[in-house]
Amino acid sequence: MISFDNTYARELTGFYAPYAPQAFPSPALLRWNADLAEELGLSLAGVSAEQLARWFSGSELPDGAQPIAQAYAGHQFGNFVPQLGDGRALLLGEVVDRHGRRRDIAFKGSGATPFSRGGDGKAAVGPVLREYVVGEAMHALGIPTTRALAAVATGEPVRRERTLPGAVLTRVAASHIRVGTFQYFAVRGDLEKLRRLADYVIARHYPEIGNDADRYLSLLRAVAGRQASLIAQWMHVGFIHGVMNTDNMAISGETIDYGPCAFMEAYDSATVFSSIDRGGRYAYGRQPAIAQWNLARFAETLLPLIDEGEQDRAVERATEVLQQFAAVFAEAWLAGMRRKLGLTTAADEDRALVDDWLALIQKHGADYTLAWRRLADTVDQDAPSLHEMLADPGELSAWLARWRRRLATESQAPADVAAAMRKVNPLYIPRNQRVEEALAAATDDGDLRPFERLLEAVTRPFEERPGYEIFAEPAAVEFASCFRTFCGT
Ligand code: AMP
Ligand code: MG
Repeated sequence: MISFDNTYARELTGFYAPYAPQAFPSPALLRWNADLAEELGLSLAGVSAEQLARWFSGSELPDGAQPIAQAYAGHQFGNFVPQLGDGRALLLGEVVDRHGRRRDIAFKGSGATPFSRGGDGKAAVGPVLREYVVGEAMHALGIPTTRALAAVATGEPVRRERTLPGAVLTRVAASHIRVGTFQYFAVRGDLEKLRRLADYVIARHYPEIGNDADRYLSLLRAVAGRQASLIAQWMHVGFIHGVMNTDNMAISGETIDYGPCAFMEAYDSATVFSSIDRGGRYAYGRQPAIAQWNLARFAETLLPLIDEGEQDRAVERATEVLQQFAAVFAEAWLAGMRRKLGLTTAADEDRALVDDWLALIQKHGADYTLAWRRLADTVDQDAPSLHEMLADPGELSAWLARWRRRLATESQAPADVAAAMRKVNPLYIPRNQRVEEALAAATDDGDLRPFERLLEAVTRPFEERPGYEIFAEPAAVEFASCFRTFCGT
């Protein structure tokens, strides 16, 4: 039993197309996220895998579901497309979870919709499992993200470069409202719908600004603040989204639409994995600037609401908010970097300390994740491995001495520093090679064991456990140097 309460469908008619998912003849459950189902308050504990597979492939609709395809537009790699929308997704409805938070339950890959623009509306097993494991890893890392409730094989082949087994992902999100949702109504000059959307978003995601005199300007500031914090957290763990189009930026501040995303191994701020990102627009180090660019597109949609009569004045005020983004981001970034360095206070020298550390690991092409973890080890163990990674004893020793002097100003016990560092510097991330292996086994052999094992590793990312060593190791150069991700559409 799922207690749906579908506010988007009810309150925002004209913002979507009602549409039924396709029925698949032989759906089979690949993975069910029982913990998330429990958190959502879904009473499905005794339900059979067969029934779950029928419900979470869209082959049969649970009571209360109202499937709709949401309209949105978006800038894709800088080019505006006035109509995108849910071409292979459907919002089933909303539930209020055990913490009182409203969550969307949606399908990805459930068949063509009125927004499919010639696409088949389908998804393949590989990209579905990729979104599952990367999203759950991000959640375990404490980063706001949409999550995966279920992955179901449809039993139907999907045609891509080669024929692949099809699947449907059930995705849970704070909402699926995107910058592109605002753009859809803004480009049509539909001020009335724009205002309704903004009011809906404020009530759902930012109730604390509901009574502000300049509530739409406050909305811009609030969304920018959450994005600044989100992107800072991506940067802290070396996450590269890969396709930060405005339709892939959620107004709620969650990471959304895992496509060609990947975690960086050898540290280099120019890292790009996506095969379609030829210009490096969405490279690791460009993500903060791109977020600001996307927020500028969001701001443009809000201008008529911010100051209806005086557009010049609206532009001025929105610009002021946008210009604060860099500083807000830098503060969130530095605060997180301090935690990664085991620091609990702020000092002027910290920025340089972080920058010099990053320069050191970039110079040696060291593995980003492991370098931090090994740094923690130097606090409470003999850690020759860091010296091996950064084969420049002089430079490293000088930097370590600076860092230790800075730590000494806080007089925390070394064991506490090391423990705190191990709580924010993960040991297990979804490494590209391990992800590829798991998806290949599932796709080619129907073997989900490597996927399950990977999921076990990355959903407890901070806790070192015997038997999981291979999930902590970077790939060999031969793999890493030619690794590319694909959109999987
Ligand atoms: P994405 O790259 O997944 O963010 O999708 C961008 C746009 O393309 C969205 O409007 C999607 O709904 C649409 N799209 C992606 N893949 C497909 C597909 N296989 N069939 C139909 N529409 C798709
Ligand atoms: Mg998308």
